[in-house]
Amino acid sequence: ITSLVGFSNLPAQHHRRSVRKGFDFNVMVVGESGLGKSTLVSTLFNMPLAPPRAAPYSSASAPKTVSIQSISSEIEEKGVKLRLTVVDTPGFGDLINNDDAWRPIVSNVEQRFDSFLEGENTYNRSKVTDSRIHACIYFIAPTGHSLKALDVEVMKKLHHRVNLIPVIAKSDIMSDEEITAFKARIRADLEHHKINIFETPRYELDSDKSMEEKTSIMSKIPFAIVGASSEITTPDGRIVRGRKYPWGIVEVDNEDHCDFVKLRAMLVQNFMEELKEYTDEVLYENYRAQKLIAMGV
Ligand code: GDP
Ligand code: MG
Repeated sequence: ITSLVGFSNLPAQHHRRSVRKGFDFNVMVVGESGLGKSTLVSTLFNMPLAPPRAAPYSSASAPKTVSIQSISSEIEEKGVKLRLTVVDTPGFGDLINNDDAWRPIVSNVEQRFDSFLEGENTYNRSKVTDSRIHACIYFIAPTGHSLKALDVEVMKKLHHRVNLIPVIAKSDIMSDEEITAFKARIRADLEHHKINIFETPRYELDSDKSMEEKTSIMSKIPFAIVGASSEITTPDGRIVRGRKYPWGIVEVDNEDHCDFVKLRAMLVQNFMEELKEYTDEVLYENYRAQKLIAMGV
């Protein structure tokens, strides 16, 4: 099956601009290792990405360094070019001492702002590639309990710098009831800790139809995610992307089974322009202003 990614269906005005120039879209995946980040990324964009090479096993006395890996790829769909970069953060949460787990991630995000800032000040501004992070998918372990202290800490360090999109990882191991309860729990925790997540822009000139669709997508946050890059055959003979269990198959692309379709719709069909706009006009501008103040300008 080759299901389209869907970015070529962006609203017409954006579409035309994008056709001409092509566009950059940079997604970062953050969360404990082993939660299925790399798997989701390849599922999301319907292409296999090389898994980040595992760091050599290090002795307990020498804590493993968090290494950040960026993978880029150019996708073309109906003549529209998308330069997609995925920034993976392997090893996060593996350390015995996770006090500074957020530091390399935040610094990677800020370095991207810095290089965009430098680019803006150069002669040929139009040639500047945009390597800023437009969306940060934050993986929450399917525990059913409150957010872990480490997750709260990392999200608090990140939310002023990126559009945070929380997801429940490996949701196929939870029942529907557990997922519903866990979602409510996570939303309450996020609110309690005053963590900002990406929200639908309130201004909306589009038709009610699309507003409805957008509201419906947002109501599913945190998305309950299942990732699988291999195809399997269902008992009724359909070929699907999914995970096989003794009790049945969890289909990635079936909205009754998980929120994968909603997440993808949010990223590439409904909110790509909004994510980019908010990054440019709010997150980046705030960073730039703080930087100028710090420099005493
Ligand atoms: P990462 O360390 O976060 O990048 O995790 P990986 O993508 O490397 O996946 C770690 C393991 O979890 C692999 O064995 C995957 O096959 C498995 N996995 C990935 N996504 C899912 C999922 O949605 N559900 C389940 N049950 N397993 C998954
Ligand atoms: Mg990985």
